[in-house]
Amino acid sequence: MQQNLLIILAVIWLGLSVGSMMLFQRGKDAERKRQLWPKYTIFSNTVLAGFIVYMQPPLPLMIGLLVFMVPLTVLTIRSTKFCDSCGSASRAPFFMKPPTTCGHCKKPLK
Ligand SMILES: [Zn+2]
Repeated sequence: MQQNLLIILAVIWLGLSVGSMMLFQRGKDAERKRQLWPKYTIFSNTVLAGFIVYMQPPLPLMIGLLVFMVPLTVLTIRSTKFCDSCGSASRAPFFMKPPTTCGHCKKPLK
């Protein structure tokens, strides 16, 4: 039962990685990517949180990690911008200001 759960989590995680590549690396529909990105990020971090709970680290560590993931999720969403011109994702490290120009075509980002 426990092992099945781990396999399910691993499959979801793999699916999310592939899905991310298909959704956010390809295509030029910046508006759709912009709408999907927060949902995707929240869902994938929820899966990650599931992993952490499954690993059953010491309780203070587990709570610390889960609490840390909340601002991390928000900052990941905020620091990623999608270019209207070429549809590429531009991402800044989560502790920095969001990028202002596209990393691919150098056009200014919204
Ligand atoms: Zn661009």
